[in-house]
Amino acid sequence: MSVILTRSSVLFLLNVAFVANAAPPASTTCCKQTFGHRVAAAPVPSVSTFFALPDGANVGSFAWPPSHAEHSWRYLVIHHSATNNGSVRSIHNDHRQRMDSAGNYWLGIGYHFVIGNGNGMEDGEIEATFRWKKQIHGAHSGSTVHNANGIGICLIGNFQNSAPTSNQLKAVRTLIGQLSNRYHIPSRLVIGHNAVKPTDCPGKYFRLQDVVRDTFSKDGVNS
Ligand SMILES: [Zn+2]
Repeated sequence: MSVILTRSSVLFLLNVAFVANAAPPASTTCCKQTFGHRVAAAPVPSVSTFFALPDGANVGSFAWPPSHAEHSWRYLVIHHSATNNGSVRSIHNDHRQRMDSAGNYWLGIGYHFVIGNGNGMEDGEIEATFRWKKQIHGAHSGSTVHNANGIGICLIGNFQNSAPTSNQLKAVRTLIGQLSNRYHIPSRLVIGHNAVKPTDCPGKYFRLQDVVRDTFSKDGVNS
């Protein structure tokens, strides 16, 4: 069920998807190839909450409270989908059809958050995945440490070809600001996927340094 609170500026959507079971992933790779064992064949039920941020940058309370005990997250790892369109649902459905080298189905989408670009999700829409709701490890970085302790954020788009939309940039600043505040993550630990492994992700047109600088200077959080 969805409720629109305001359309005053950027409208964000939080979809918290629930999947009944979860198991650790066997391996990980980049972006559109996030891994995990599939143990539940059900479609992705979701509960949606709309909210809006007046300046697209900050709110007084945390917008994505998980229902499970919170993990002590240490990193924010930024990705692009390397596709022109997509959504939590499409990525989840894609990945849960795949098997890892051990013959186990992937659990599904490996990210904790996805930010839409208007093709598959609203432009600037932030959707939390079941991994965030359940506070479980990601499967996005190719690094055990960063999967276990990093919040995986994927922006839909191929930023090797074009830049994120302005709404996506507002959204990712908002998300980084809120998560870094809540988990006391310093700016140096807000990293692109390419800081963890050799990859183009999140793309040459995603200017992470600018995003981090703008976010931390605006929010006044740890640096
Ligand atoms: Zn990536």
